Amino acid sequence: MTDMPRPIPNMDDLDTAGFFKAAAEHKLTIRTCTQCGASYSLPREYCRECGAFAMEWKEVSGKATLHAYTVVTHPVHPAFPVPYTAVLVDLVDVPGARMVGNIPGEHHLEVGQAMEVWFEHVEDGIVLPQWKVAE
Ligand SMILES: [Zn+2]
Repeated sequence: MTDMPRPIPNMDDLDTAGFFKAAAEHKLTIRTCTQCGASYSLPREYCRECGAFAMEWKEVSGKATLHAYTVVTHPVHPAFPVPYTAVLVDLVDVPGARMVGNIPGEHHLEVGQAMEVWFEHVEDGIVLPQWKVAE
């Protein structure tokens, strides 16, 4: 292990705090326009579809399929020991929306396989949505 602290989200950030506050309640959310319903896996201040500034955090199921993955064997940050498997998933109930995560260790997965969210408690009040192969 390492003494390097793990990077944690800024819980006061206007664009992302809602995502992490929902995660602390074990809810996976995605930024969604209240005017037209467009969803954004990269949070933004306004809707690029209709221009509205009326955005909210909408809860989604946490079901996904594996879009891509790679096994990381060279350390890129001292707080993340190698090997680990970085995953990119497609949310089942929000077509086009993708999220990332990492699974400790080396895993050989299949693109398209079912994945599901779980919630990693990093430290007090800090919870990160992560992904695992669906059971
Ligand atoms: Zn919109």
